Amino acid sequence: MINIFQPSLGSDELNEIKKVFDSNWIGKGNYVLDFEKKFSHLLNKNSDNFISTNSCTEAIFLASEIFDFNKKDEILVPSINFIAIPNAIISKGAKPIFTDVDSRSLNVRAIDLEKKISKNTKAIFINHYGGVPCEMDEIIDLCKEKNILLIEDSACAPLSFYKGIACGTMGDMGMWSFDAMKIISTGDGGMIYFKSKDDIIKAKEQLYFGLPPKSKSGLDSSNNNKSGWWEIEVNRPGRRAIMNNISGAIGLKQLEKINSFISRRKQIYDLYNEELSKLEWLKTPPDISSHSTSSYYFYWIQTNRRDELAIYLKENGIYTTFRYWPLHKVNFFKSNHIDLPNADQASRLTLNLPIHQDLSNNDLDKIVDLIKKFN
Ligand SMILES: *Cc1c(COP(=O)(O)O)cnc(C)c1O
Repeated sequence: MINIFQPSLGSDELNEIKKVFDSNWIGKGNYVLDFEKKFSHLLNKNSDNFISTNSCTEAIFLASEIFDFNKKDEILVPSINFIAIPNAIISKGAKPIFTDVDSRSLNVRAIDLEKKISKNTKAIFINHYGGVPCEMDEIIDLCKEKNILLIEDSACAPLSFYKGIACGTMGDMGMWSFDAMKIISTGDGGMIYFKSKDDIIKAKEQLYFGLPPKSKSGLDSSNNNKSGWWEIEVNRPGRRAIMNNISGAIGLKQLEKINSFISRRKQIYDLYNEELSKLEWLKTPPDISSHSTSSYYFYWIQTNRRDELAIYLKENGIYTTFRYWPLHKVNFFKSNHIDLPNADQASRLTLNLPIHQDLSNNDLDKIVDLIKKFN
């Protein structure tokens, strides 16, 4: 079976893990701190605004705590989005308000958001679909005008830039994922950006027992208090959601390759575009704006024969899927009555094709040939 996504891990990462083992400190340490620095520098940002964690989902739940989502709050969420976002909002008693998206790019637009803003709107939780940046100028203006927090789920958009600014760093908070299926993987892992220094301090506390950052706590053997190093102070009821050096070491090696991973993904994306745009019965993705760069996380086509095509490809050894099932259609979120025509249409027509850096040219030829022969 040709996978739709898969990680590229090998001897470089294994050698780096061995160094961590040999160091005898597999917990959070210099490998993680280095990973945070290198990641933020690739985004042209100061590492002081970044903190790693053990998954992007953790970061999404953290948003609802740091920004204190509560009962009276409405949080706008484009319906084509990741399940953890409404989960996090509901867990704090706040209300997710699902919005429509552009039917072709599957990205949310300012006009979709504007329709759902009320006096209770506290935050907007956007997603850069498949690594292609949303049109941010209008969204940023809207948030400023209405005094609404902007949170960017950039799980799939590492090194995606909008007018030269990295996705995930244009609003109040952003987050990235390094899980098993993302462009770079640390096994599991996530990264968080906060615009405000106060928020980053709160986040660090929340992700590590509520202990003040850099406190020489009883949990830190580098504590150089002469005595009483077991004494602690706690600022908030935090938990433990930090990255360890094994993940950090894998991440450092993956960061060395991220640009080549993205170039290979672009080649695949371009080849699909070139070959498949000749077919009348399907649509290829809309052009990426000249002021944006993508991480090329997804490639998708749209056809009213989507279901048949997915089964045919699966029977021929190619796994495809649709991301993300519209949240307003999930019964648990009790939003079935709302009408989001573009999201509905996208969920009927869209099929995500295999795209990852280890896809061979033979694999690609096979996929393209099968799609061309489909009738
Ligand atoms: C994968 C993904 C996440 C969650 O990332 P984890 O690290 O697996 O928790 C969040 N948002 C989007 C858009 C994703 O694709």
